[in-house]
Amino acid sequence: MRKSVVAIVGRPNIGKSTIFNRLVGERISIVEDTPGVTRDRIYAEAEWLTTTFNVIDTGGIELGDEPLLVQMRAQAQVAIDEADVIIFMVNSRDGITGADEEVAKILFKSNKPVVLAVNKVDNPEMRENIYEFYSLGFGEPFPISGTHGLGLGDMLDEVVNHFPEQVQEEIEDDTIRFSLIGRPNVGKSSLVNSLLGQERVIVSDIAGTTRDAIDTPFSKDDRDFVIIDTAGMRKRGKVYESTEKYSIIRALKAIERSDVVLTLIDADTGIQEQDKKIAGYAHEAGKAVIIVVNKWDTVDKGEKTMKEFEDKVRSDFRFLDYAPIVFLSAKTKKRIHTLLPKVLEASENHAKRVQTNILNEVIMDALAMNPSPSIKGQKLKIFYATQVSVKPPSFVVFVNEPELMHFTYERFLENRIREAFGFEGTPIKIFARKRS
Ligand code: GDP
Ligand code: GDP
Repeated sequence: MRKSVVAIVGRPNIGKSTIFNRLVGERISIVEDTPGVTRDRIYAEAEWLTTTFNVIDTGGIELGDEPLLVQMRAQAQVAIDEADVIIFMVNSRDGITGADEEVAKILFKSNKPVVLAVNKVDNPEMRENIYEFYSLGFGEPFPISGTHGLGLGDMLDEVVNHFPEQVQEEIEDDTIRFSLIGRPNVGKSSLVNSLLGQERVIVSDIAGTTRDAIDTPFSKDDRDFVIIDTAGMRKRGKVYESTEKYSIIRALKAIERSDVVLTLIDADTGIQEQDKKIAGYAHEAGKAVIIVVNKWDTVDKGEKTMKEFEDKVRSDFRFLDYAPIVFLSAKTKKRIHTLLPKVLEASENHAKRVQTNILNEVIMDALAMNPSPSIKGQKLKIFYATQVSVKPPSFVVFVNEPELMHFTYERFLENRIREAFGFEGTPIKIFARKRS
């Protein structure tokens, strides 16, 4: 199932990011400890009643010094391209401005559902000001106040009403979906082409079996795969597609629909800050991850070159210690045959379930080997562990007092679980719960 996407469009200072933060709430802070992940989010998950969806704050997509109108047109276009429903924000205090009318025209032509939100209606008397906004042609204006959190419920009811019917994507369940992410020019499209050009790879000719129409289904050795295109890979050109923030949105959308994410590094230019940030997104999403060092053909190789590069990757991407590293060249196709087997293995581990009795033996052995810690005289007691979900494999450990589960001990348990069951390529999660 694919989550619906909502984009917020409107002039600067209208209150877009205030509303975005309200919708997204504390979810943002969950990820702040992940290394390399920026705080200035413009794409995140939100929830209204029982529905989860993703929100884009298009105000965060900036095109250098372009004039306001150019920026706003680009932002409206991103909303049209990416969103199922658009929240068009105007300001009760300014009335309708020329820029509002411009945006309205673009949105109108798109035929996407638009919910008109009149912000900064901070008290009931100000509701009088909303009537003029009917003339924009989007029906009933919803008065809201970002700072006071007023009117959001009615607005969200309307937004959710316009979500498309969820359809199961028309792809068999054992299909392995993966995407390629990385800086511009690391070789994402070259690698896609080389993978598809390999021997015995059969590319399905039903192009565009999914909504996004740019995914490529293929099979190899009787296994079905789908490459989820991070767009921009094939559909280049539009100005806004080259902006960093926008490419991040595309990458996040692709990651979300993937089982396995290949995060690419360019061996020629070496590892850069942006590589870590991008890889951070894959990690944070809980997907299986493979680190692909591309352009290996450009490196002068001695006996230790690969080991040295590997050490450097390991120290720069500590948070991806579970991810295998594959060295290859998309251009010469050298070692390219090593990639799909890793994708397959990572995907199997990502979906792996372990038996509860064996899990508990492993945990008890771990306890015997390295007794649980005490904090302020209180000792952590572990009673029982069970795997509660897959993708990624997640475990609940029932304890006397969750606060006593220190990070380093949790890490130790994770390593024991990994050694016992082999979870290469996938993150695993451990939650300590109080035994009730
Ligand atoms: P953006 O540029 O559209 O993302 O706008 P911001 O969310 O950054 O808000 C711009 C300014 O408007 C900030 O100073 C906010 O505190 C203020 N603001 C946002 N929503 C409201 C509101 O509902 N009422 C009032 N009075 N001010 C608001
Ligand atoms: P993308 O922006 O990540 O999709 O990168 P491209 O696939 O467009 O590749 C960017 C450039 O790197 C192109 O000139 C490619 O020919 C080149 N390139 C891609 N893979 C390799 C490789 O394995 N070795 C070398 N030497 N060049 C490569």
